[in-house]
Amino acid sequence: MVLLLGAAIATGCAASGNPLHPDRIDAAATFDVPAFLLPSLALLDADDRPIPIVGEAAGTWLRRTVRGVVVDPSIPPSVRAQCCGADRRIRWSTGWSPDPHNPDDARLAAGILLHEARHAEGYRHTCPDQRRDRTIDEGGAWAVHAAWLRHMGDAVTAETIALFDIGCR
Ligand SMILES: [Zn+2]
Repeated sequence: MVLLLGAAIATGCAASGNPLHPDRIDAAATFDVPAFLLPSLALLDADDRPIPIVGEAAGTWLRRTVRGVVVDPSIPPSVRAQCCGADRRIRWSTGWSPDPHNPDDARLAAGILLHEARHAEGYRHTCPDQRRDRTIDEGGAWAVHAAWLRHMGDAVTAETIALFDIGCR
């Protein structure tokens, strides 16, 4: 474990000349999230693979699409998050926040961040209830959300979304 970590840092040094890589620190500083979402952000940033539908690495896409996350107590607790006003910041409700020590929570919250970021690209929910999406093929917020969970190996939550959140009632 220690040897592997050392090797990774050595590779980073060779590539960038500086293991602290100032560019990355600057990029992170402009993207503020509440502390309870830091494990989710780390999970997204750790994966360089292009994500389904979006075709770009999740962390890069999230930062390009929105400008951060703020907690907004005015949002009904039954709503987890909303996006976005003119400031392009995701608003997180006080109804649920992930346990930062729970990897399942971190993954579920990361999925919500990507869901909200898809809204920021102009994809609104297409069912009359304004909560569900008509189809997976339209590539909206629920489609990106479910596809990313599947991409991360969480087929169970992805299937739950496909069953309950895609298709109008
Ligand atoms: Zn939504």
